[in-house]
Amino acid sequence: MRILVSNDDGYLSPGLTALAEAMRPLGEVTVVAPEQNSSGASNSLTLNRPLTISRAENGFTFINGTPSDCVHIALTGLLDQMPDLIVSGINNGQNMGDDTIYSGTVAAAMEGYLFGIPAMAFSLRDHGFEHVDAAADIAREVVQRHIARPMPAPFLLNVNIPNLPREQIKGIVGTRLGKRHPSEPVIRMTNPRGDPIYWIGAAGAAREGGPGTDFHATAAGYVSVTPLQVDLTHLEQLDAVGQWLEASAK
Ligand code: MN
Repeated sequence: MRILVSNDDGYLSPGLTALAEAMRPLGEVTVVAPEQNSSGASNSLTLNRPLTISRAENGFTFINGTPSDCVHIALTGLLDQMPDLIVSGINNGQNMGDDTIYSGTVAAAMEGYLFGIPAMAFSLRDHGFEHVDAAADIAREVVQRHIARPMPAPFLLNVNIPNLPREQIKGIVGTRLGKRHPSEPVIRMTNPRGDPIYWIGAAGAAREGGPGTDFHATAAGYVSVTPLQVDLTHLEQLDAVGQWLEASAK
């Protein structure tokens, strides 16, 4: 099995190294990751400048672009053969609920999914890599389950892992995305030259995090696995929009 590994925290992230090492016993691993931390990059592609491909001493390939750039370039010219699976992460922090819209970790996996390749995004629920080895074990277990009993492809799985020792992780469960409150307000500061500068505020707390959600499962010590789709069409509003357009034309 050929496995492409990427992330959004950059090619130097301990989460990327842990994930790549966890995948090695399972197949032929190639790592293509961003040079810089690109958290929050979502699905952006770099179209206003050319991109440079470099090789790190450990064999990782890094690109001065976004997570989506990395996977896109890997799939459209860099790799000799298409991978059978794309894994992204392990992200330094959770990607639950509305985070999935902004996440570069999810985007790297989603880029593969858009090409029809099975993909999984892995994130640690809490910042810090104290238990990254446990998270890497979980990532390997999820991939092994797919190898032993393949999920129908293509699929995009968003996996969030509690930051706990392996023996304290209670299990792996299927979830839906919860929802967050709007994010915290922007933070205004002053730079050394007296100009105003702004930091984007922190993500909002969970607003809908009841049973069945990723928030709920990971808070209780479980790994959450949420299957994602890309089509944003709001099917329930389709009829209403048609009727509104007809009525408003008169
Ligand atoms: Mn990140």
